Amino acid sequence: MENKPLILIVEDEEGISNFISAILTSNGYNAIKTEKGGEAISLTASHVPDLILLDLGLPDMDGVEVLKSLRMWTGIPIVVVSARGHEREKVEALDLGADDYITKPFGSAELLARIRTELRHSQKKADINSAQTQSVTVGELHIDYEKRCVSLEGEKLHLTPIEYKIIVLLSKHIGKVLTHDFIIKEIWGPYTNETQTLRVNMANIRRKLEKNPAEPKYILTEVGVGYRMVEDI
Ligand code: CA
Repeated sequence: MENKPLILIVEDEEGISNFISAILTSNGYNAIKTEKGGEAISLTASHVPDLILLDLGLPDMDGVEVLKSLRMWTGIPIVVVSARGHEREKVEALDLGADDYITKPFGSAELLARIRTELRHSQKKADINSAQTQSVTVGELHIDYEKRCVSLEGEKLHLTPIEYKIIVLLSKHIGKVLTHDFIIKEIWGPYTNETQTLRVNMANIRRKLEKNPAEPKYILTEVGVGYRMVEDI
């Protein structure tokens, strides 16, 4: 028995499906494929994959409906595959419980990075005995949760309480995109619309955190969707 992670590819474009499958199998994964939403649901139940790559434009069923249906009974990581420019669709999918998305066309490095991140997160969630993480380091950035301290190249950053909370939130979901709505609800609560405030805070964080705030390295903007803290620099 092999113990490779199993990835379910739900994609109706044969070229893309074969491309993804070839990348996965040559990088230590097993892959199964379907082009239909209905079959995706039954394959998930029968094969219990470790992760699902879900195209949102399917012939028999809207991918969003597949996502909703899966989320009623499974927490398996789902990475949505979406076309460029469909930002609203991506946000909807994330709000419905997708873990992340990848935009077509994508390269193998990006695909493998997304999959690694999600598998690591689901492993962490599963490992209830693991000690609480005390700190996170990315490149020259160090976040110490216990000391409530963020430093860059060993120098302590002077952050406002809100800025600190935003950085901690992003770092606790490192590698994953967080939607504007999700960040706002987590920081300011459910009864506000602080989109502009979030933008201002992010600009201030970047001035303190990034060598060149116009080309951020640590916290990336996902246009029309949200922000992502990178895992590796
Ligand atoms: Ca499609």
